[in-house]
Amino acid sequence: MRTKIQQTFDALGLELGGTASGTHVTHSPSGPRLESIDPSTEEILGAVQQAGADDYQTCVSRAVDAFRDWRMVPAPQRGEIVRQLGNALREVKQPLGRLIAIEMGKIEAEGLGEVQEAIDIADFAVGLSRQLYGKTMHSERPHHRMYEQWHPLGPMGIITAFNFPVAVWAWNAMIAAVCGDTMIWKPSPATPLLSVALQKICDRVLGEAGHPDVMGLAIGETETVGHAMVADRRLPLISATGSCRMGREVGQTVASRFGRCLLELGGNNALIVAGDANLNLALRGVLFGSVGTAGQRCTTTRRLYLHESIRETFIDQLLPAYAQVKIGNPLEADTLMGPLIDQASVDRFVEAVGSVKQQGGEILCGGGLAEGFDKGFFVQPTLASVTHDLPMLQQETFAPLLYVISYSDLDQVIEWHNDVPQGLSSAIFTSDQQTAEIFLSHRGSDCGIANVNLGTSGAEIGGAFGGEKETGGGREAGSDSWKQYMRRQTNTLNWGDDLPLAQGIEFG
Ligand code: NAD
Repeated sequence: MRTKIQQTFDALGLELGGTASGTHVTHSPSGPRLESIDPSTEEILGAVQQAGADDYQTCVSRAVDAFRDWRMVPAPQRGEIVRQLGNALREVKQPLGRLIAIEMGKIEAEGLGEVQEAIDIADFAVGLSRQLYGKTMHSERPHHRMYEQWHPLGPMGIITAFNFPVAVWAWNAMIAAVCGDTMIWKPSPATPLLSVALQKICDRVLGEAGHPDVMGLAIGETETVGHAMVADRRLPLISATGSCRMGREVGQTVASRFGRCLLELGGNNALIVAGDANLNLALRGVLFGSVGTAGQRCTTTRRLYLHESIRETFIDQLLPAYAQVKIGNPLEADTLMGPLIDQASVDRFVEAVGSVKQQGGEILCGGGLAEGFDKGFFVQPTLASVTHDLPMLQQETFAPLLYVISYSDLDQVIEWHNDVPQGLSSAIFTSDQQTAEIFLSHRGSDCGIANVNLGTSGAEIGGAFGGEKETGGGREAGSDSWKQYMRRQTNTLNWGDDLPLAQGIEFG
């Protein structure tokens, strides 16, 4: 195992057990040292010297200066540089995917999938660089032309969560770059080495292209770097991914300075299995959705509504499926579920299970720490049979804890489905077209993502990703999400010899 880790670090230019700089602007930042811990073994992988307040200021100044040049580079040329970044990611897909497994703890197949997602969004952004379209409209005034243009917005701040340490940065960075923005990234303190590895790639590719400060890094404490970034008027856009608690703080501060905020926050995603569903499909969708990434996806299935007619049959299939989930080190080929990110997450899981029991829920399987591990943050995938009024159902426990609830009526289950503060992802399994259409209609799911006959997690980059209510309302990745990274300007041009006013107003 140690050899695999050593090879991974070597391939990415990292020093196992060494201390890297947490920012691209200096080799010796002034902030405190931050250790990176392998959640499977609790061993120290290395450390970063974090950015202090002065380093943060240098980062922003460099991003502000770089914006002046970058916005003048034609968008297709910006796309060409993003294409090179995507190719650089292709070259390190294997070690980078493995480093995700090592530092974050998701299994290697999912780590590789995450790097692929970063490559995919780079490809998408390259095409987008020739499609930053504005509309033209007919003016009501004779001899006038009206149209809109999209201009680069400015330097922006990117704040990311621990669970998608590569992909969420890429969703923002690749699109923002082709839009003409420069950026500074404050990643999660739980995955600093992944951000250093990515920054090395950016430094090389962007340096060779003559634009070294387009993508910057400032690993630092929330109190210094995080708060400074959110309050910084030089950053017109803050894109923040993480918990609803974080989003509430960030959103209020950014709004108070009339900045723009793109919030991607917590989910509390439900999956409904109707009485007429294909249960084999549903079983696979539920298993990946609830146990994948050890329940640490924002789109993880947290509530499972089973029609009463199939409840017993489905649970009889789900229990053995849960029992065969191999828990272990994510670098081992047969592992399906790795560890949680840290001890605090384990504590929150244990506490949540206790609350479920206290509130009248019944644990059907799991409910404790995984057996056979001296070290590492391993817990059991857990099923709890509950009723919809259980207070715990309202909150996101970031762990493999799935609530099972019976229902009898479609309208009732849709009401229950929507009766939580968050609104990220949702799914229904059904063979009935009317049921599917009702779920997708405006009286159906109230989430940003709604699926039929596939699970709640595993979104593609082509669609706009994000959710409603306390999930924050932001949209990232595909479709027209790029518009948030640009400013719209409406232009009217008079090519006549007169000056007619709009609305037919005569003045003097
Ligand atoms: P977290 O909220 O603890 O931290 C997220 C990031 O915000 C970190 O970089 C952290 O340092 C920073 N941060 C926290 N408070 C801040 C503040 N006041 N000002 C500035 N920065 C601040 O979240 P986490 O534990 O890393 O990630 C798990 C959460 O993220 C879950 O709730 C999950 O659902 C959510 N998530 C959402 C999406 C999405 O797209 N909707 C994607 C991934 C994760």
